[in-house]
Amino acid sequence: MLRSLGSYLLDLVFPPRCAGCLRFGHWFCDACAQDVIPAPGRRECLHCGNELPENAEASGFPCPACGESWGWMGAAALHEGPLRPAIHAFKYEGRVELAPNLARYLYAVTAETPWTAIFPQLDAMTPVPLHSDRSRERGYNQAELLTRSLASSADKPVLKEAILRTEATRSQVGLSRAERADNVSGKFWADSQTVAGLTLLLVDDVLTTGATMRECAAALRSNGATAVYGLALARPTMGRDPAP
Ligand SMILES: [Zn+2]
Ligand SMILES: [Zn+2]
Repeated sequence: MLRSLGSYLLDLVFPPRCAGCLRFGHWFCDACAQDVIPAPGRRECLHCGNELPENAEASGFPCPACGESWGWMGAAALHEGPLRPAIHAFKYEGRVELAPNLARYLYAVTAETPWTAIFPQLDAMTPVPLHSDRSRERGYNQAELLTRSLASSADKPVLKEAILRTEATRSQVGLSRAERADNVSGKFWADSQTVAGLTLLLVDDVLTTGATMRECAAALRSNGATAVYGLALARPTMGRDPAP
C-alpha cells in the first residue's frame, strides 16, 4: 500500500517517459517495442569468433574453423531504432527501471532456433562483469540487471561473482577490433569452485566484436565449465565492426 502510494507519487513527479521516443506514459512504449528488430539466428563460435551458418545446427557446429563444440554467442536484437537510445539510457543515464522491458527481448530468444535447444540445458546464468571501479562509479552493472530479469523469467539461478575482471580495462568504445581484443585479453578470472561442470549462459548488453564475451568464456572454460553460451541484448547492424 505504502509502496504503491510511493510509486504513484513518484509517477506524478517523474512521469514515465519512453526511452525510445520520449513520449510520456511508458518506460518503453508499445510502438517502440514493435520497432525492435529481432536477430536471434546469427551466432559466432565462442572459441574463435567464426560466424556459424544460421539455423544449421548439424552442419554449423562443431565450429568449422576451429573444431570446438562447447559454445557460441549471439544477440537478441539489432542495436538500432528505439532500442539504441533505450540501451543508452539504461546503461549511462541510470534508467534501471528499463531492465524488465529490455530483458523481454532476451527471454524472447528462448522460443527461437537455435536457442530453444540451449535454454533447457543451462545450469545457471552469469553477467559479463564490470570492473569494480566502474560498477562503483555507476552504482550498478547493467548486464547483471538484465541477467537477473532474464533468469527470473527463465527460472534459472544467477551466479553473480563467477567471473571477475582482474584489472581495469579501458572502455571498448572507439577502439578497433584488434585493439578491443588486446584490451580485454587475459583480464578475467573465473571461480572453478563455482563453475566446474556447469553449462552456463553469459549475458551482456551489447555484442560488438565479441572480444569480451570470448575472454569471459575462455576464463570459464579453463576453470572447468562444461559448455558456455553468450547472449547479448543487441548487436550492431553492420558486420562485426565496432559500432561508431
Ligand atoms: Zn516509444
Ligand atoms: Zn571456432
